[in-house]
Amino acid sequence: MKLYQQQELHIYNSISKTKEKFTPINEGAVGMYVCGPTVYSNVHLGNCRTFLAFDLVFRYLKHLGYKVRYVRNITDAGHLENDADSGEDRIAKKARIEMVEPMEIVQRYTVDFHTTMDQFNALSPSIEPTATGHIIEQIQIIKKILSEGYAYEVNGSVYFDVHKFNAAHDYGKLSGRNLEDMVANTRELEGQSDKKNPQDFALWKKAEPVHIMRWPSPWSDGFPGWHLECTAMSTKYLGKHFDIHGGGMDLKFPHHECEIAQSEASTGVNPVNYWMHANMLTLNGKKMAKSTGNNILPHELFTGENDILSKAFSATVTKFFMYQANYRSNLDFSNEALVASEKGFNRLMESYRMLPEINASTESNFDVSKWRQSCYDAMNDDFNSPILIAQLFEAAKAINSTKEGKTSLTQSDIEILQKTMHDFIFNVLGLEDTANIQSNDGNQLADAVNILIGLRNQARANKDFATSDLIRDQLQEAGIQLKDGKDGTTFSLN
Ligand code: AMP
Ligand code: ZN
Repeated sequence: MKLYQQQELHIYNSISKTKEKFTPINEGAVGMYVCGPTVYSNVHLGNCRTFLAFDLVFRYLKHLGYKVRYVRNITDAGHLENDADSGEDRIAKKARIEMVEPMEIVQRYTVDFHTTMDQFNALSPSIEPTATGHIIEQIQIIKKILSEGYAYEVNGSVYFDVHKFNAAHDYGKLSGRNLEDMVANTRELEGQSDKKNPQDFALWKKAEPVHIMRWPSPWSDGFPGWHLECTAMSTKYLGKHFDIHGGGMDLKFPHHECEIAQSEASTGVNPVNYWMHANMLTLNGKKMAKSTGNNILPHELFTGENDILSKAFSATVTKFFMYQANYRSNLDFSNEALVASEKGFNRLMESYRMLPEINASTESNFDVSKWRQSCYDAMNDDFNSPILIAQLFEAAKAINSTKEGKTSLTQSDIEILQKTMHDFIFNVLGLEDTANIQSNDGNQLADAVNILIGLRNQARANKDFATSDLIRDQLQEAGIQLKDGKDGTTFSLN
């Protein structure tokens, strides 16, 4: 029996604004699409939060025994500087400024994205398609929408007719907007004169002569509108009706609203059963964003090279910090919060590592089966990772008090604790026990740190405390914490 047959998962559906029981279209299988990065600069920590939120979803669905096809695209064309179909293509602009080929920009930042996701121990999606690899599919969809009468061509560009679509469908059902309000609140913007209405959006844009990212089409040499790529790639790999579609909250409108419109106009079918949106990571109370410069890059965190950081933090600690908040809540980044998360994570790992040392008794004071189900209940409640982490701390408390001889655990309970903690900490949350590095024979980092510990011991024996303190402090700055105990000095990575 698969775990998903025993555990009832509920997902908060952004479209119904309620938690709904999750039932996949095909028993035992899940199709999930998540909008990927636009690869024109390094991903910042805010982007990472969204991708890590969906890594958790992917991991938990797999843990429950589902066969998951997880599609996350790379946007390498078509994403203009602003949402109103105007401005330069973000990638082309960067390429122009740096005087390189746009595909060099795409390559550089795709590699950066993959490296960052690896550092965070995020799993690779099952398929990672690119917008430029699916121009033909996008042109096919435009032809279909035109033939259904929901789009029109003007001067080589094709626009989606939002008003016509709204007469037969509901444009705004995801974002909770209605077209009359949008009309009332829209100023006629310059440069949009090709559109019948300002609410219409581009499916295909004719390229200006200077625009080098261009492809032939029946309408002009040009490029697809940004929203279209996700409709093309999700339909191609998951079908016209699939289970889960995710992205950051800021993509709800217009991007996801337009995806629904494009799908319904071309296939007649509502494309997605469960819409999931991750909330924003903020810095100084404002959304982290590439465009405003209000952001922190992952490598700044790992090296500590940013004025707001007192030290370096590991990827695992950062992830732990993110998962201590629900993915639907805002989360503000701060040095203090990271320091607190690091302490918490180290405490949890210390208790977990003590488990094999515990002597079994004939009875338990801790209801391990009930606790295990509480861990599942937390995740079944819309992937509620902060509650799961609180449950893991309950287990840590039970381990500590048993170690101190105040309570007891049976052998089988110790084994259930060990397996369940391992499953949730490493497989579901995808955290890494960075201190394990010490027990790994032949590990060069451990060898090097042990040499420094030896030098420090010598300095202390010679009463050269200036040198011994210097070694300790500089290791601390490099993210390596020494701990003096009665059996000698050990270290852990922060
Ligand atoms: P982009 O590369 O700008 O298309 O963004 C990639 C993903 O990161 C999208 O799902 C965005 O919604 C998400 N995102 C952007 N900024 C933030 C933020 N400050 N916090 C969380 N997610 C974000
Ligand atoms: Zn998308």
